[in-house]
Amino acid sequence: MTKLNIVLFGPPGAGKGTQSAFLIERYGLVHLSTGDLLRAEIKAETKLGLEAKELMDQGELVPDHIVIGMIRNMMEAHLEAKGFIFDGFPRTRAQAEALDEMLNLKSEPIVAMLALEVPEQELVKRLIGRGATSGRADDKDEAIIRNRIREYENKTAPLKDYYSAQGKFKGIDGVGSIEEITARLMKAIG
Ligand code: AMP
Repeated sequence: MTKLNIVLFGPPGAGKGTQSAFLIERYGLVHLSTGDLLRAEIKAETKLGLEAKELMDQGELVPDHIVIGMIRNMMEAHLEAKGFIFDGFPRTRAQAEALDEMLNLKSEPIVAMLALEVPEQELVKRLIGRGATSGRADDKDEAIIRNRIREYENKTAPLKDYYSAQGKFKGIDGVGSIEEITARLMKAIG
């Protein structure tokens, strides 16, 4: 059976984590969020976590080889998965190429890149709101939030062209109620 491997794409605050929770339940997928994996390393006070924390707290990306290694390990740990939702990964062209290489080796390619589209003002508003309860250092300060959005625009947004060239890009309106957006995603998955 073909695996339902999906990249859930979008800027910080677009709702990737929230929507992943619905999709994994609906389709029985395994959720792979590099942000969550990195925060777990920080919590466990590993060497990797300590290194990543400084970059994350400034809203900078962590090096490609770190997140690629984490994704590789998790995919190997879940060979039984019906598919994966990649959330917050890939974020650079090198990451996208590494992911394609890993998946093509198994003939289990990405079937779609679903890109949640939300205007910047709305993103900043959502992230500042989340900062009040998430305890995330990178959600507290507007300058850091804007830096994360800049990183996204410079390094990550160009991946829309990468997946468009493979015929996999699908833009999804990310403004509305959680349920409305879930329905749009499910329609796009088909
Ligand atoms: P997120 O939870 O996806 O918003 O990620 C939080 C932070 O973790 C980002 O601002 C980056 O510092 C780091 N991070 C998460 N995923 C990646 C990735 N794929 N590549 C580089 N850095 C990442």
